[in-house]
Amino acid sequence: MKTLFIAGVSGSIGKQTLDVLNSQWFKENFRLIGGSVYSNWNDLENLIDTYHLQAVGIVDDLYDLPESYKECRIFKGLDAVENAIKYCEADISLIATSGFSGVKHTLSSIDVSDRICLANKESIVCGGNFVLNYAKKLGKIIIPIDSEHSAIFQLLLGEVTRPEKIILTASGGSVRDLPLEKLESVTPSVVLKHPVWEMGQRITVDSATMVNKGLEVFEAYYLFGIENIEVLINRDSHVHSIVQFCDGVFKMHFGIPNMKVPIAFSLSYPERRYDFNKPSLADMKIEFEKVDYNRYPSLKLAFDILGNPILQNAFNAADEVAVENFLRGEIKFTDIYEVIYKTVNEVEKMFSPSISLEFRSLDEIIKVDKHSRKVAKKVISEINKNNKMDQYK
Ligand code: NDP
Ligand code: MG
Repeated sequence: MKTLFIAGVSGSIGKQTLDVLNSQWFKENFRLIGGSVYSNWNDLENLIDTYHLQAVGIVDDLYDLPESYKECRIFKGLDAVENAIKYCEADISLIATSGFSGVKHTLSSIDVSDRICLANKESIVCGGNFVLNYAKKLGKIIIPIDSEHSAIFQLLLGEVTRPEKIILTASGGSVRDLPLEKLESVTPSVVLKHPVWEMGQRITVDSATMVNKGLEVFEAYYLFGIENIEVLINRDSHVHSIVQFCDGVFKMHFGIPNMKVPIAFSLSYPERRYDFNKPSLADMKIEFEKVDYNRYPSLKLAFDILGNPILQNAFNAADEVAVENFLRGEIKFTDIYEVIYKTVNEVEKMFSPSISLEFRSLDEIIKVDKHSRKVAKKVISEINKNNKMDQYK
């Protein structure tokens, strides 16, 4: 029986992990001993009741909670998640926190767990090799959960030859068929209706802009050490990704799009233990489309800065800030790219004299994130000022 901690247990990936744990083999082989949230105490309380957890972490303590509840230690405040992870010392930590905060959670889990099942892509995007090298140094294994990276991880098992190219697939997101001139006025509620996946809010918006695919290009580059990466649209998301070898052979990963499959694989690896729907190939079509960079300029920008962790970090921070503002109705959908582009350019000027292609500490990673957020907020206030002036014209 392996012990498990889930960071971000109340989110989309967190909840799907709980579903996986409810299936027979996983129930018999894993024991959930801890979890964390940003502010969702209701979910934590239910989990403490159901699983008799040892410790939980809650960052935003709205309820003035006690130090413990039913013998479960409650950590609160800014370092709550890291403290809960360290207290539990679970065999496996699954990091499904959304956003930049996940970086600290991944680093803490590397300190105490043997295996890290990693959904939080920002841990790699914002730190470059820093997080991966730390895991390597401590002899810990990181298994990606992001469906494309789980697919590539699986495609490379048993291969002694490195592929020449990685092809990441993309759905195209919720507004993939909207005429380009209508993108400016699309509302958050339309953007949040993803055609294939049910996910957290930020990643759903990021799918529509393909910022998410940009983050995944960064993630693939560091995880697999391959720079030759292409993105193709596969509308129904049945092809999860592809590798191509020197002899021209493609290997592709095909299956029903459901995050429980890569979540389960990350837990049961090297075995496959999740019993799931078996699609019939005769009923399926496999089709790909090229990406139109006029529709998805953020993906083009991502390719331009690939391999520069400072600018990748700025790209992510600017997007987190822009998406929050878009969801509050304060900027337009198309402004998201403008915020990212201007922030990345500004950060490049600021850090270019000292630019190094590796971060050496968590503090350096946090410094770039903080600075980038400040720049992004400034860019947004300029956009708002210009929008107001346009109204009076
Ligand atoms: P959600 O927004 O659904 O859930 C986020 C979780 O993290 C919640 O439990 C939330 O707690 C917690 N959280 C948010 N901010 C903080 C913080 N500052 N400190 C501590 N906990 C925090 O996200 P998703 O599950 O969609 O995504 C999680 C990660 O997985 C992301 O990095 C995403 O890119 C990646 N991913 C997700 C996929 C999906 O299908 N959803 C697919 C592939 C990758 P609370 O409920 O209290 O707010
Ligand atoms: Mg993905």
